[in-house]
Amino acid sequence: MMSEKRGICPRCGGEGVVLGNPVIKVGKTRGLRVVVHVCKNCHLVFYEEL
Ligand SMILES: [Zn+2]
Repeated sequence: MMSEKRGICPRCGGEGVVLGNPVIKVGKTRGLRVVVHVCKNCHLVFYEEL
């Protein structure tokens, strides 16, 4: 079981639920791998870099 202390909502400090970890494009050829979270509390969708 993973117990990372990440995925904390930047708006309300609530716990985020991981939606996935896609690679998003930054520029023409570069990709950035992120974790997408949605806050359980306020439903804000936010990203964290891996
Ligand atoms: Zn929140």
